[in-house]
Amino acid sequence: GSPAKPQKQKNKFPDTSQSLKERRDYRTQGLCPPNVESHALQENRCLAQLASKKSPLEKYIYLSNLRVMNVHLFYRLVISNVTAVTPLIYTPVVGEACIRWSEIYQHPEGLYLSYSNRGSLANILSNWPELKVDITVLTDGSRILGLGDLGVNGMAIPVGKLSLYTACAGIRPERTLPLTIDLGTNNEKLLKDPLYMGSKTKRVSDKEQLEFLDELMHSLKQVWPGIVIQFEDFKNPFPSLEKYQSKYSMFNDDVQGTGAVILAGIINALKVTGGAVKDQRAVFLGAGSAGTGVAKQIVEYFAKQGLTEDEARRCFWFIDSKGLITNDRGDKLAPHKRYFSRPDNDGKQYKSLPEVMEYVKPTILMGLSTIGGAFNESILNRMAELNDRPIIFPLSNPSSQSECTFEDAVNGTDGRVVFASGSPFQTYQYKEKLYSPSQGNNMYVFPGIGLGAILSKSTNISSSMIYTSAIGLSTVINQTELDAGMLYPDIKRIREVSVVVAREVIRQAQKEWLDREKDIVDMTDDELDDWVRERMYDPSHPDKGADGQVRGGRR
Ligand code: NAP
Ligand code: MN
Repeated sequence: GSPAKPQKQKNKFPDTSQSLKERRDYRTQGLCPPNVESHALQENRCLAQLASKKSPLEKYIYLSNLRVMNVHLFYRLVISNVTAVTPLIYTPVVGEACIRWSEIYQHPEGLYLSYSNRGSLANILSNWPELKVDITVLTDGSRILGLGDLGVNGMAIPVGKLSLYTACAGIRPERTLPLTIDLGTNNEKLLKDPLYMGSKTKRVSDKEQLEFLDELMHSLKQVWPGIVIQFEDFKNPFPSLEKYQSKYSMFNDDVQGTGAVILAGIINALKVTGGAVKDQRAVFLGAGSAGTGVAKQIVEYFAKQGLTEDEARRCFWFIDSKGLITNDRGDKLAPHKRYFSRPDNDGKQYKSLPEVMEYVKPTILMGLSTIGGAFNESILNRMAELNDRPIIFPLSNPSSQSECTFEDAVNGTDGRVVFASGSPFQTYQYKEKLYSPSQGNNMYVFPGIGLGAILSKSTNISSSMIYTSAIGLSTVINQTELDAGMLYPDIKRIREVSVVVAREVIRQAQKEWLDREKDIVDMTDDELDDWVRERMYDPSHPDKGADGQVRGGRR
């Protein structure tokens, strides 16, 4: 007779946490050392190995290999140590990984598509070994963090971001697709580097790029019909966002995620100051895609609080590299700047931040300028004179580019600052009191937005869905956190945050009839939260929710 068929193998990846029974069932007996270990013990071993690596980049490489070798253990480690591990797998260390990607390269980690592949993108996408993909993060490497054009070395960004989708919102790791398009690079250093792994040509034109993206978007949807597509780190994010947002389930986290997370911070900051929306005067240093994206989101909130859109828009004053943005400045403004350009400066030109501050007398000061230290002592002192509780958000990354440090902000305002930054800062002791900084980290919203879009099977991601993600996030903060001066929940509660964000995103999709998952329409919020939780990947029970084999290798 024929040899006995092997039992259905649900999880053939050997792991020291498998019980003896599981090892018999999965046929992993003998494939790993004999002792059955607790998850905690496994994690402690990893933490010790991690601690033995000297540089942050070595830690990054260690974690990257761990993910490939034992994906569930990797995610258990990340989830139990979010605060310590996230900076090693995403910002700030991912920046260094991108700069040195060609040197540290060991695994492809995702899919690469070159300009020369056009015409066969769908075919190449089908080479990806997973049949089901729920979400992709897509970059062209043209503006990686604040580091400029890094070409295909930008791959570390989709990889890192998708790890957060999995860790923070429970999107199954095997259903995530890191995707980097190789449309050339204008980085001379890379073009000359023998180790560089992308096309050694200058970038294609904007028109060629959009044509390529047209084919790519179409192909992604053809191969994985329900796929959510998140754009990341494009030098100019607006053309693709405008073109695809009503046609595909897509969003751009640099513009929209940032807008949402900072709006949530402002909502909570106003809870602290008690200020009315109509009385806010916000000065923004920096008018790039991030700054204007943030302000647009706040305009929408101010408008929902009873201002007209015009009144809301007039609460903002923007400074770019040429000074206050006004209609009569005599330069041609990009559309995102034109929206906030001031008509009411009576012909006066205000060049510097102090001049604008004297003119506007702001209640809110935002930094998205990439100019480290721009909020110096005299700026901070002046904010503290103008306001009982000045709202000051230095949002530029990395820490070296932050407009001020947390310490500066507390010192400069005698502890009265209402603060959130882009980069992480330590708690700070000032006059006997311990102050806790808040970080307006996009990871508070994008994982939940992705999860909500996937679970509701929404046909696209509307701007109202992004907006409600901010409202959802703003509700998660508790009184203890507010009393400690925090504007965002403790990052340890991130999976709880993602459930609320996903629920609000799903609700908004339902309101706009964008949802195709109709079974959940009549659920109460509590029922919906449970339904969402039930569907989140949990690396302690990796088989739950898996269809087919759970892979240990690859991603
Ligand atoms: P960007 O497009 O390069 O924008 C930078 C802006 O700053 C531009 O408007 C630029 O003026 C202006 N600027 C440069 N030098 C200046 C100066 N000396 N004085 C006044 N303005 C000056 O960059 P972005 O994508 O908007 O990002 C900006 C920063 O935000 C980055 O550091 C990024 O890391 C950070 N960010 C933070 C978060 C977060 O905290 N969650 C999210 C996203 C981005 P011109 O327009 O005249 O060139
Ligand atoms: Mn980004």
